[in-house]
Amino acid sequence: MWIIIGDRSRTEPVAGGATARRPCPKCGAMATFHEHRVLKTFRLYFVDILNHDARHVMVCGRCHAAFITDEVAGRRPELDQRGTVVGALQGAARRTRDVATSGAIGDAVRKGRAAIESGAVTEQLGDAAAQSRDALRRLWNKRR
Ligand SMILES: [Zn+2]
Repeated sequence: MWIIIGDRSRTEPVAGGATARRPCPKCGAMATFHEHRVLKTFRLYFVDILNHDARHVMVCGRCHAAFITDEVAGRRPELDQRGTVVGALQGAARRTRDVATSGAIGDAVRKGRAAIESGAVTEQLGDAAAQSRDALRRLWNKRR
């Protein structure tokens, strides 16, 4: 069985990012470099699982070679998980929490918690447990 794993690297321009005009070490031309964000994503069976590295680079406007230069050295962009399986799970967890704390379900959850803390539920469960025990006892006695 083949397990297909891999790493994908995406580069996108940073809006309002740094620019610099200088000779390119790769193509040798005097070129304008633009700040880009590089995002590395771990992939399993061609599905994006997890973003694990993000950094800023300066990209040559002519040959598109990327370099970490003085302008971007030390800049660490926030590593978000948008577009990955981990991101989808985080979004689902966030939506579940929002649903559980807002609207009618949130009210029900708060009332339930208040009932548990006040001891009312324990009393009711106590009654239900006693009734179940009595019913089982009657059944048991019938069979004997
Ligand atoms: Zn170049």
